[in-house]
Amino acid sequence: MSNDNTTQGEVVKSVLTAEERAQLTPDDILQEFIEGNKRFRNNSLTPRDRVSQIEAAASGQNPKAIVLSCIDSRVPVEDVFDQGIGDIFVGRIAGNFVNEDLLGSMEFACKAAGAKLIVVMGHQHCGAVKGAIDNVELGNLTTTLSNIKPAIQMSQDYAGDKTSADEGFVKTVAENNVRHSMNLIRENSPILKEMEDNGEIKIVGLYYTLTNGELLFVD
Ligand SMILES: [Zn+2]
Repeated sequence: MSNDNTTQGEVVKSVLTAEERAQLTPDDILQEFIEGNKRFRNNSLTPRDRVSQIEAAASGQNPKAIVLSCIDSRVPVEDVFDQGIGDIFVGRIAGNFVNEDLLGSMEFACKAAGAKLIVVMGHQHCGAVKGAIDNVELGNLTTTLSNIKPAIQMSQDYAGDKTSADEGFVKTVAENNVRHSMNLIRENSPILKEMEDNGEIKIVGLYYTLTNGELLFVD
């Protein structure tokens, strides 16, 4: 943990440099996220001097990853991974799905700005997933939720009640929505697919458990 500026107990004043990031593999970064999530759950987030970090980051950024998350207020992305200013790009949209604009953002993050890990993070009790299951129609939200419909199709083998009242079904759809987003990244972004095939980046699916802060892998 020496090169990730999150040494526990010490107040972090610097931000990630290009040299520090160059030493990190995609797997190292994923491991940092896993360790950071443990600190988050243990109430021991890295102390950060944000005023110093604002100053240090103003001249440039070298984020190590991009996280795609839902907009849910109960998923504080930086905290969930114990990351600070300059550490990660975050894309947020209700239902954490991928569209052209988010793919473009990911291509910027990885190809242009050097991030090495893409995390697609769904979460427990997702209102967008429930809304898609319930066929909610409301202004522009109708179109937003239509992006989650393929994940419902992927979940038709679910054995229980296929409604938003069935927690297991909501979880299954949320996980399939993460899988679908990962598939879309690979299918619709030749740039990111090539980077993944070359081992320059890793694309990982996670499911955030609202009730305890824990992350589960979505294969
Ligand atoms: Zn959500």
